Amino acid sequence: GATIGILGGGQLGRMLSVAASRLGYRTHIFEPGAAPAADVAHALTTAPYEDAAAIRAFAASVDVVTYEFENVPAASLDLIESIVPIRPGRKALAISQDRLTEKDFLSGLGLATAPYAAVDDAAGLAAAMAGHERAILKTRRLGYDGKGQLRLSAGDDAAAAWAQVNAPAVLEGFVDFSAEISVIVARGADGAVAAYDPGLNRHENGILRTTSVPCGLPSRLVTDAVLLAGRIVGALDYVGVMGVELFVTPAGLVVNEIAPRVHNSGHWTQAGCAVDQFEQHIRAVAGLPLGDGRRHADVVMENLIGADMAQLPTLLRQTGTQIHLYGKAEARPGRKMGHVNRITRRSAG
Ligand code: ATP
Ligand code: MG
Ligand code: MG
Repeated sequence: GATIGILGGGQLGRMLSVAASRLGYRTHIFEPGAAPAADVAHALTTAPYEDAAAIRAFAASVDVVTYEFENVPAASLDLIESIVPIRPGRKALAISQDRLTEKDFLSGLGLATAPYAAVDDAAGLAAAMAGHERAILKTRRLGYDGKGQLRLSAGDDAAAAWAQVNAPAVLEGFVDFSAEISVIVARGADGAVAAYDPGLNRHENGILRTTSVPCGLPSRLVTDAVLLAGRIVGALDYVGVMGVELFVTPAGLVVNEIAPRVHNSGHWTQAGCAVDQFEQHIRAVAGLPLGDGRRHADVVMENLIGADMAQLPTLLRQTGTQIHLYGKAEARPGRKMGHVNRITRRSAG
């Protein structure tokens, strides 16, 4: 049997590995740090993923490489690609590693994004703020869970704000959205595209708190969301699962960001579909046909963050609750420790 290499030893890599095992594959997870990938990204460095000898040995031990986080250094990707294929491919990685490139790509496809401008210094920030009542300054690389972001209002001191965010950055106008949804979309090696039912996302302190399906939006918007996600994966000649985050506004859907990997807002598929996002990704990466991602239940996914772990004894006694724990030792504030999928209704027929 084939061996699938996974870059990153966080919870996403772990759940990908379980799905791969179920399909009979072996997996090899590359995780250089004592900390899992998510914590490395938190430190805003990817240095542990730059060890050429270790990367070469990893690539030589597998048949294909995929990843659980998009910030793998380019030199390591070059090295891997000289030995085995990387799926999803380099184009998606290059674009999504930098918020500016990503926004240019999305708007180049004709999709709506927040108004944005590249910012390279305090003077540039002051200029970019002109015309915005509210805006968000985001570091271009390595941000996640709202880290590396600063919310600004007209009149705020640009120099003070600039000192707080890693350069280079983008300034985004604040989008006055009524809801946040995401589409988990998959594209197979044969070019087939499938999307899961969009989920409604609720964030707290920049971190995803819950995802609910169905999202409760009019079918016109649901269709728009799915078609838009399909255009993105088509344009990238993508192979694998992608998360597409969207804002719902009176003027229609606005793309917030894309993630070239399985996505936290797709965890509900573990309880709501015959083939969940992790198996779907493995199928694509391994060159198998995409599986059945139709939703057979209403589900609310809730992340267990930091001190939420104290609820575990209660959760273990709840019916209709599927528990996933990531095996992290320390329940630090803001750290994703696990999630639960609550089945709120099973679909008839
Ligand atoms: P993730 O963990 O999803 O990768 P991230 O650190 O990349 O998060 P974003 O998705 O860019 O951060 O932003 C986090 C949240 O902040 C969004 O889900 C949304 O709630 C809010 N937000 C981000 N950009 C904007 C914007 N331009 N206008 C309004 N709200 C925004
Ligand atoms: Mg992000
Ligand atoms: Mg996001």
